[in-house]
Amino acid sequence: MQRYFVAAEQFGDSNVRIIGEDAHHAVRVMRTKPGDKFIVSDGQSRTALVAVLEATPLFIKAEIVEMLDADSEPKWAVTIAQSLPKGDKMELVIQKGTEIGAFAFIPFQSERMIVQYDAKKEAKRIERWSKIAKEAAEQAHRSSIPEIEPVHSWRELIKSAANFDLVLFCYEREGHLAHGRGIRSAIREWTGRSDAVNDPKVLLIVGSEGGFTDREAADAEAAGAILVGLGRRILRTETAGIVGLTCLLYESGEMGGA
Ligand code: SAH
Repeated sequence: MQRYFVAAEQFGDSNVRIIGEDAHHAVRVMRTKPGDKFIVSDGQSRTALVAVLEATPLFIKAEIVEMLDADSEPKWAVTIAQSLPKGDKMELVIQKGTEIGAFAFIPFQSERMIVQYDAKKEAKRIERWSKIAKEAAEQAHRSSIPEIEPVHSWRELIKSAANFDLVLFCYEREGHLAHGRGIRSAIREWTGRSDAVNDPKVLLIVGSEGGFTDREAADAEAAGAILVGLGRRILRTETAGIVGLTCLLYESGEMGGA
């Protein structure tokens, strides 16, 4: 069933309003008519099955048929910190990461980044990335939309590591030599620590096409990160975050099955 995220103020006690691009999409693309049902979420605590009362491309009014207890959010909140990749690869990371269950994304700058960071374009890009996260969250039946944080400098990223329970730094050298810790052993090691919590906030740091420098790896370790490998193959930057996220959520018991 089609899902839409609306702002909290569009979500009333008995009615929900859908406006803007969503209304346009519902009416022009999905051919929504009065009587049709879909699911609306405020991206926070409320999700409801609604029935359309009025439908125009500018505005849809729908009544709440039933409140749903539809929490599909992973218990582990994994934030992917992705060093800015070339072209539109960040879009792929956000789209697929959102489907799989990432909590948030932090684009950041690193030494061996290949793209030229353009601060002037940042607001527009964040807006586009947020839209991609919203659409992917709707498509994946998420109950919340991952946040796209502003582009961080390397220093800012390292500082923000303190806000997480577990920080994993994906280091291709560790994987390549096949002697590094994998995600499973890193989690085991962390679980044995006295400060381990049940449902951790995890930061997964991924380099861009140029990889990381030894200095960055040392900075990350000094900030409490565990260096991890993702196997003996070198993954492309846009693949690494998706794979790391999937391994983490699998280990946390999130990917279905017993
Ligand atoms: N240019 C580098 C590869 C960069 S891969 C080289 O040729 O060595 C891009 C990023 O993906 C890396 O910085 C790392 O964060 C992640 N990555 C890719 N493969 C990985 C692996 N096998 N183990 C851990 N991290 C990996």
